[in-house]
Amino acid sequence: MNIVIDTHTHTIASGHAYNTINEMIKSAADKGLELLGITDHAPNMPGSCTPMNFLNFRALRREKYGVKLLFGAELNIIDTDGNIDLSGEALDALDIGIASMHPPCFKGGTAEQNLNAYINAMKNPHVNIIGHPDDGRYPVDMQKLVYAAKENHVLLELNNASLNPAGFRAKEGAENNDIEMLKYCVEYKQPVIIGSDAHIEEDVAEFGYALDLLKRVNFPEELVVNTSVDKLLEYAPYNKL
Ligand SMILES: [Zn+2]
Ligand SMILES: [Zn+2]
Repeated sequence: MNIVIDTHTHTIASGHAYNTINEMIKSAADKGLELLGITDHAPNMPGSCTPMNFLNFRALRREKYGVKLLFGAELNIIDTDGNIDLSGEALDALDIGIASMHPPCFKGGTAEQNLNAYINAMKNPHVNIIGHPDDGRYPVDMQKLVYAAKENHVLLELNNASLNPAGFRAKEGAENNDIEMLKYCVEYKQPVIIGSDAHIEEDVAEFGYALDLLKRVNFPEELVVNTSVDKLLEYAPYNKL
């Protein structure tokens, strides 16, 4: 599979990631990516940046070292109504939005409440991707989630870091949840996007665990958005490329 996109990476602006934007782009270029998304954590993540970080995206170029760039955010879902932690001009400034659930920002609810939160987040036009919906700390009915993603024209992420056996989410059953998600993605012809969730330059476009899983479940290549910039742009219409 020819992977040319990584939409989920973090820089020092996130407060717990360790490289600059420039270093992340350089790594993406070295690895032959056509497009990189920089998606630092939105402000409710402890230690992350303020809305000003996102407001000033106009200063940044959308191509460097031959790599197309999208500047966005990993937005925090903060309640069971699916509200997120960025608004106004800072939200409008995003090229791409990933909405995710994280323990410091949202304690989660029942499977029904979590589904409701995800669906309402999907209805926000700035949300293009649901990040790591495989997190077992936030149980959800995968069939209904995949169906909702299809209805709302939002991508679901297959998060490589979730599948790292040393990570938090792997210990909470991420792999089984991903297998379930992928099964319904095939059934409903709903594409996925693989995200590295890199917090350091070496991890940009590192997709080994995700690609291995896709192979094991015979997931069709045409449903993997990372193979084509045009495919991604169908789901991220706010880009400025
Ligand atoms: Zn995350
Ligand atoms: Zn992340």
